[in-house]
Amino acid sequence: MENTRKSAIAQAANREIRDIERPSLKISDYFAQNVFTLDKMRLFLSDETYKIVSKTIEKGHKIDRSIAQQVANAMKTWAISKGATHYTHWFQPLTGLTAEKHDTFFTPVSQGKGIEKFDGDTLIQGEPDGSSFPSGGLRTTHEARGYTAWDPSSPAFIVEVGKSGRTLCIPTIFISYGGSSMDFKAPLLKSQEFIERAALPVVNLFDRNATRVIPTLGWEQEFFLIDEALYNARPDLVIAGRTLLGHGPSKGQQLDDHYFGTIPERVYAYMLELEVESLKLGIPLKTRHNEVAPGQYEFAPVFDEVNRAVDQNQLLMDLMKRVAKRHKLQVLLHEKPFAGLNGSGKHNNWSLKTDTGTNLLSPGKTPRKNIQFLTFFVNTIKAVKDYSDLLRTSIASAGNDHRLGANEAPPAIISVFIGDALSKVLKEIMSRVSTNSMDDYDKMDLKLDIHNMIPDLLLDNTDRNRTSPFAFTGNKFEFRAVGSSANCSFPMTVLNTIVGETLTKFTADVKKFQEKGDKKDTAIFKVLKKYIKECQPILFEGDNYSEEWAKEAEKRGLSNIRSTAYALDFLNSKESKKLFSKHEIFTESELEARYEVSQENYGLKIQIEARLLGQIATAQIIPAAVSYLNDLSDNVIKLKQVGITKKNLAAQMKLIEYINEKIGTLNDHILALINCRKKLNKIEHASKKSKAYSDEVIPYMQKIRRDIDKLELVISDEYWPFPKYREMLFIK
Ligand code: ADP
Ligand code: MG
Repeated sequence: MENTRKSAIAQAANREIRDIERPSLKISDYFAQNVFTLDKMRLFLSDETYKIVSKTIEKGHKIDRSIAQQVANAMKTWAISKGATHYTHWFQPLTGLTAEKHDTFFTPVSQGKGIEKFDGDTLIQGEPDGSSFPSGGLRTTHEARGYTAWDPSSPAFIVEVGKSGRTLCIPTIFISYGGSSMDFKAPLLKSQEFIERAALPVVNLFDRNATRVIPTLGWEQEFFLIDEALYNARPDLVIAGRTLLGHGPSKGQQLDDHYFGTIPERVYAYMLELEVESLKLGIPLKTRHNEVAPGQYEFAPVFDEVNRAVDQNQLLMDLMKRVAKRHKLQVLLHEKPFAGLNGSGKHNNWSLKTDTGTNLLSPGKTPRKNIQFLTFFVNTIKAVKDYSDLLRTSIASAGNDHRLGANEAPPAIISVFIGDALSKVLKEIMSRVSTNSMDDYDKMDLKLDIHNMIPDLLLDNTDRNRTSPFAFTGNKFEFRAVGSSANCSFPMTVLNTIVGETLTKFTADVKKFQEKGDKKDTAIFKVLKKYIKECQPILFEGDNYSEEWAKEAEKRGLSNIRSTAYALDFLNSKESKKLFSKHEIFTESELEARYEVSQENYGLKIQIEARLLGQIATAQIIPAAVSYLNDLSDNVIKLKQVGITKKNLAAQMKLIEYINEKIGTLNDHILALINCRKKLNKIEHASKKSKAYSDEVIPYMQKIRRDIDKLELVISDEYWPFPKYREMLFIK
């Protein structure tokens, strides 16, 4: 029988490198050429309509139906001029992927004749009959309709497939017949509107001219790349996205020789082609580099408004997979494809900007601007302190569980890192602001001192603590614990909401002091002092990977929840329901639905992995071990026949016994896993079942993996059926 692994290795080692042609020498020539930007809209609309449309988009308002027809015509004309034959409402259901259903512009009018048509109504609303998308019971079958509604704040774009596939994609939200959100985008947009409402009064304490506040997001996407043939020879990668077995290579990342190293040529060609495709779609990719683990890389764009940045990331993840195929590569977006090596995250850099051009988390040039900066800085930390459990929930997934707390990524404990300079500033405020009264002289002094304590360019002065899940990095916070395959929407929805809630309280608290007679600045200082004091338990500057921190965090009352099945409970808590419904981000039933979907999804993921591991172990690993055992035994029999003494056969006998014994334990563990699953499958309640899977099934999977990985070390290489770690990671 042919060894699939050997033939996969042979293919992987002999790949040709694609030669990539760029559309033009300058990126600016083709950047966003497939995006229906405002500039392009202007070309296809009357001046008057253009003015109305651009103003509505700028202000974040909804577009009137009467104007929609003109926009639809403009979009259609542009899309057809680019070769598009179809359009689709592009949305982000709770599967975590993007969804689309294509319709053609072409409409037959009479025999043998037709025209290209696109209605304003169709632009505004679609009905993709998404009855099979997860809804968590929000839609009963008699109203099994989902609607997509146009989101004008994210521009339409054209996806190209091959030489002639061209589809106009219109970003939309996805809601049920009764108006409930069934996707990631609707709540994100609501949270964006909310934080704007909440932040504006605070900004206006300092800057009367600002009329808008918009959250910004710059994600950093980590991923692994491996050869397609090696990937296809690993059923665990194909089905589960991660290796369920495989002994670590003798050389891993210990030499740190991959991080920022020369990008291998085949990978370089891939990145080049992906960049061309991304840039044409307006995704402003800025950096590319090798990451820590062998075979691991990263892309990061210039940041954008949260909503658009999320769409760009979803689109990029899709492009990454498609372009990889052309290079006979496979992208692994899983948070932990290889045990024992660094996992992949998606750092979410987050800030707030105003329409007056201020980054609210960037230190300012005047004492006044710096108090504004500190206000937003402290409010964000306070939000994380008060709602750290919700933040933990926002990044919970079966994949990310392998990463959080695995001593290479931020732990499951949420804390905030702010660096030396700002720690000192916060101490200064704590010690110098008097809660009773503050005269103007004290205040002026403090303002100036603080201003002098904040370096002009914090960006270069913040020491980078790479172990922190939530770090201030000079002019933004970096939420580092987000998983690589995640849709950024939910962590961003939670962050916007909790900071919005805190800013709302801040406004009220400042007002209270003002009503008692304090001047505005005094009131602001007093509230800041109070918040800084309350934030202390969440601030941590040390090594987040250390065991001491886990102990210390427990003393501080911070949660350390390692399993998604349990972390999700925060989503469904009273506190969460109150917060989200108060600000109309989620209704209680929407949250319950989301909870159900997430729990079920988690349970199913573990179930699939467990089944697969059992099948692989039974049908591929044990047979390989048995074949090798046969060879060894035959050999011993023959050696005995030619007169080798028992004593001199001891080493081989030991090996035979060892393999035989391992086959025995492996078999026991497989049976135990099957019985365990049978028992748990009787549990009907989704969250009980997923918790049971987490508690009982995962330990068996770990045992089975250990047995298999031990066998990998002793079974002849000739018999091992699956590409090994060293092969997947180092053959390029
Ligand atoms: P690193 O964290 O790897 O050191 P940088 O600090 O250069 O990298 O930036 C990381 C990311 O932060 C980039 O994707 C960038 O777009 C994003 N970023 C920078 N400023 C902001 C901001 N104001 N809001 C959101 N993201 C930002
Ligand atoms: Mg980073």
